[in-house]
Amino acid sequence: MSSTGSPLPTLVAANPKPLAGICADVRAGRVTARSRVDAFLARIAAHDGEIHAFNEVHADAARAMADAVDASVKAGRDPGPLAGAVIAIKDNIVMREGKTTCSSKMLANYRSPFDATVIERLRAAGAIFIGKTNLDEFAMGSSTENSAFGATRNPWDTARVPGGSSGGSAAAVAAGFCDASLGSDTGGSIRQPAALCGCVGFKPTYGRVSRYGLVAFGSSLDQIGPFAHSVADAALVYDAIVGRDELDSTSADAECAPLAAKVAEPLAKLRIGVPREYRTNANAPGVAAVLDRAIAAAKALGAEIVDVDLPLTDIGISTYYVIAPAEASSNLARYDGIRYGHRAKLAPGEDLEDLYSKSRAEGFGPEVRRRIMLGTYVLSSGYYDAYYKRALQARRLIKQEFDRAFETCDVVLGPTSPVAAFTFGGKKDPLSMYLCDVYTVNTNIAGIPGISFNGGFAEEDGKRLPVGLQLQAPAFAEETLLRAAAMLEKACVG
Ligand code: GLN
Repeated sequence: MSSTGSPLPTLVAANPKPLAGICADVRAGRVTARSRVDAFLARIAAHDGEIHAFNEVHADAARAMADAVDASVKAGRDPGPLAGAVIAIKDNIVMREGKTTCSSKMLANYRSPFDATVIERLRAAGAIFIGKTNLDEFAMGSSTENSAFGATRNPWDTARVPGGSSGGSAAAVAAGFCDASLGSDTGGSIRQPAALCGCVGFKPTYGRVSRYGLVAFGSSLDQIGPFAHSVADAALVYDAIVGRDELDSTSADAECAPLAAKVAEPLAKLRIGVPREYRTNANAPGVAAVLDRAIAAAKALGAEIVDVDLPLTDIGISTYYVIAPAEASSNLARYDGIRYGHRAKLAPGEDLEDLYSKSRAEGFGPEVRRRIMLGTYVLSSGYYDAYYKRALQARRLIKQEFDRAFETCDVVLGPTSPVAAFTFGGKKDPLSMYLCDVYTVNTNIAGIPGISFNGGFAEEDGKRLPVGLQLQAPAFAEETLLRAAAMLEKACVG
């Protein structure tokens, strides 16, 4: 995020110094973790009433974690690479503190007895958790308007959405409520809200980060990743959570050397593919202009701009909106009012069947119910071949198309979202909301990594709104992806 001369709105935090430097200060005792937590809590108390980034703020637990970090510094121990880093967690990732609600009535009172693997790893690295952030119910949506607890507002303009589904995590970073946050990305839920809130959002390769303790939406697509003020900060958080986990059978056993110290090294001979299909008139004029300026800036850095073709961009939405609901309908079958979640009260004479259907009808909001119905339909015998099987075939073609594109370029550049932040209620019918995901869903379908960074600003109705740009890279090419993103981030907004 950069002010590029114009004053920032009061609710938007100026870019702080690099997180690695802040943590080094905490480790050296130059600044206390406690003073940092207190400052964030004060800012949250002053402004979260307007933003509603948090479902729950864990003030006492955060202070206790900070005191423990400070005590270990005093005792001469090393609290870890994220010492004193204050992190907010999307409320679909379980942790021992507080509740994990998925912003759903279904889980409004759910408390997890265990920590997700990412939480365990962040704790071990010295991080401090400040609270749980709002999301579209069960991570289904692109605006955070589907939260059962009320929408989150965009710090750049509170009349607009922060994007979704991880809107609370994006807004919390943009508003300066934390150093970084975690989100989950099934079809764009980290990258799109990062774009709309002017921060960085990074979805690693499928399998890079353990999903153990992430409430499942689309298990073959879901991936946890960080939001941060810069690519370098995102890399620092990523380094702490990446790597094989025995508790997630899909987690990858791939090499994961730390990247944070490397991201500032520019890449010589970077080949940036710009797909024709990412430059259509679906893009708002302000978005198209930011992309054009980024391409010019990349050329000035010596990068080669390569034309690539991704004609299957077009079928991404229909493929995703078959596969994701299919997996969701099966993942959400566990909320039956018996083992987990909301249990309806039965009237005399009602039976077990009524308990299931009443609990689910009362516990799930309209978008979640729509996804369950869509998913059940595409998996049902008679329709399976026409929808689900075809979507899997399309998935293979989309993967192959990316493989071909990456024969001629190292990364693919485009807008993260065709539009900047829109106003509340601006996308009323579900299809127009789904179309927001046109540039992000294929990343998950192909299982490759993607990152959104702030590429510049667009003027809309007198408001200056951030515009996100997305880079995608081949599976496990996170180092190239992050180094390229750091180069472009600097070239675009300084
Ligand atoms: N907006 C997409 C959806 O509604 C993506 C959500 C996500 O990535 N969790 O499904």
